[in-house]
Amino acid sequence: MERNWSKNDIIELYNKPLVELLYEAATAHRKYHDPREVQVSTLLSIKTGGCPEDCGYCPQAARYHTDIEKNDLLSIDEVKSAAIEAQNSGSSRLCMGAAWRNVKDDAEFDQVLEMVRTVNDLGLEVCATLGMVTENQALRLAKAGLYAYNHNLDSSEEYYKEVISTRGYQDRLDTLDNARKANLTLCSGGIIGMGESVEDRAGMLAALAAIRPHPESVPVNALVAVEGTPLEEQKSVSIWEMVRMVATTRIVMPTTTVRLSAGRTDMSPEGQALCFMAGASSIFAGDKLLTTPNPDCKSDHELFDILGLIPQKAYKKGSKPAVDESYKDKPDLEEKIKWSRPGHKIERNEEAKKKAKSIRNEDGFEPRKITSVSSIDDA
Ligand code: SF4
Repeated sequence: MERNWSKNDIIELYNKPLVELLYEAATAHRKYHDPREVQVSTLLSIKTGGCPEDCGYCPQAARYHTDIEKNDLLSIDEVKSAAIEAQNSGSSRLCMGAAWRNVKDDAEFDQVLEMVRTVNDLGLEVCATLGMVTENQALRLAKAGLYAYNHNLDSSEEYYKEVISTRGYQDRLDTLDNARKANLTLCSGGIIGMGESVEDRAGMLAALAAIRPHPESVPVNALVAVEGTPLEEQKSVSIWEMVRMVATTRIVMPTTTVRLSAGRTDMSPEGQALCFMAGASSIFAGDKLLTTPNPDCKSDHELFDILGLIPQKAYKKGSKPAVDESYKDKPDLEEKIKWSRPGHKIERNEEAKKKAKSIRNEDGFEPRKITSVSSIDDA
């Protein structure tokens, strides 16, 4: 029976003396998980950059001037090769990310459905992060063999408004609900270090913990401040904040897979070890997370050896979805989609947009090619 957590309960937990918090989290971790096992995921950007949204942390937003290389949707063969490479390097899950506001019932979505089927056939857990989805779209993804859908809450409902103006928090929750209705497992977490308070971090965890059952995966990202984005000047979070966030997440959602996500390149091996002690049970592998840097596989293997950790096998926590060919059937009518567009003004987002415009005017700017993807929020 999952406990009801109020925001104040979570703040109290987060602020406990660190050694007590760590002990409590490690105890909860051992109760529900094998503490030696770590689920390893690879994140692949299948469509990079040119996104119409204004997420303040994201170098893929078309309105900001960042140094990323824009790429159209990958081919099935490109995805298959990347999936085989990920599998050979020890990943049990491939998460495919597209920089879209929401899924559309078009030819590109059909191509993504084929990608899902192809990766499922390889025996990897397949996750997708494609922006907002309707129930019908989530169902087609599930029938094609999708195992998990990622859609991050990013922050508390209150602080979300300080970071994004082009879509609403309720849309995030509705998307998660649509994925759940389609029997997909949920992956949803957030980012710390965007200037939010401890209350906001607790508010986000309270919102995630109010989802029943709890999301099966919760990624905890540390902001990677990218030049040209509205959050470019944010200072990195300390390892102690990261350890507290991981430990608190572990206690609040004890059966969930807690994924140590963006920001690992700034953490020492000792810092990461503390996060594993605090209940992190998953990492993203590969030297790039969409567009931001990540430790390479060799250093992760060395760290696993030092700490005695082992990669978890695919489908340890659920069964492989059977593919139902009816995923190919186009819906007769597109569902009426009413995703919101709050459109309030966020000063730093406006500033970054203005700056990008003036750089383009000065340089006679042609959008640069993108070589990386954002912090690990979904598209
Ligand atoms: S986080 Fe996703 S939705 Fe937001 S700007 Fe980046 S790619 Fe677009």
